[in-house]
Amino acid sequence: MVKEDGSWNLDLFRIWLLEEVIEVIMGIPPPIPSEEPDRIIWCHTSSGDFSIKSAYKICKGDEWNAKDDKWKCVWKTLGPQRVRFFIWLVLKQRILSNVERVKRGLAVDPSCFVCGSPIEDILHILRNFNIAKDVWSQVITGNRLTTFFSLNLQYWILLNVQDTSVIPDGGSTWAGLFGMVKWRLWKNRNLFIFQGQPWSSREIVNNALCWATQWYSPSRVTPSGGVGSPLEEQAFESMIVFNTEE
Ligand SMILES: [Zn+2]
Repeated sequence: MVKEDGSWNLDLFRIWLLEEVIEVIMGIPPPIPSEEPDRIIWCHTSSGDFSIKSAYKICKGDEWNAKDDKWKCVWKTLGPQRVRFFIWLVLKQRILSNVERVKRGLAVDPSCFVCGSPIEDILHILRNFNIAKDVWSQVITGNRLTTFFSLNLQYWILLNVQDTSVIPDGGSTWAGLFGMVKWRLWKNRNLFIFQGQPWSSREIVNNALCWATQWYSPSRVTPSGGVGSPLEEQAFESMIVFNTEE
């Protein structure tokens, strides 16, 4: 791993590792043979020794922070809890698109299995992919279109989930519909990959509109963002299972 002159053998690393990993390695001084032998260390304590306390701190710090206003709006979006949770995962970049799978060493091919685009990141699945564009073009109204396809992931989500104006047909808030469409696009991507039977863009729109309307109805859910009755949640769950899951 180290060349005769004492520097890292980067050509060897490049056979196995991604360039971003190599950049990290380049920032680490190569081992010096005269010093003590390598050992495994825990990088989250100054001593290098593992401690439960430090591990807990990392886990805790990585969770949703209730004091961070940025996340709060996600939990106020009208819709089933699983959709809100999905939006939160998207914001935290935890959705396993092929790009994320490659980053985590779970796959080697970051391309989109649906359309062949060389990069399948989360924005590709939820916004930039042709079917996603077609779906959004059927539901976006007014001046939302001006920035919709150009914002980065975080701004795109935060801006839209905070847009609680009622859509023209009066059946939902934009934020509620936005969440349902995103969820449906993700399910659709998985339907294609695992079952080879994606929905058409029209079916996605109709389903998302139907559920967004259901959750907006004042008799079923409070406009302030209540989660609705357990019965409601069950109905949604069973419909998703029936339609989409293995
Ligand atoms: Zn694609």
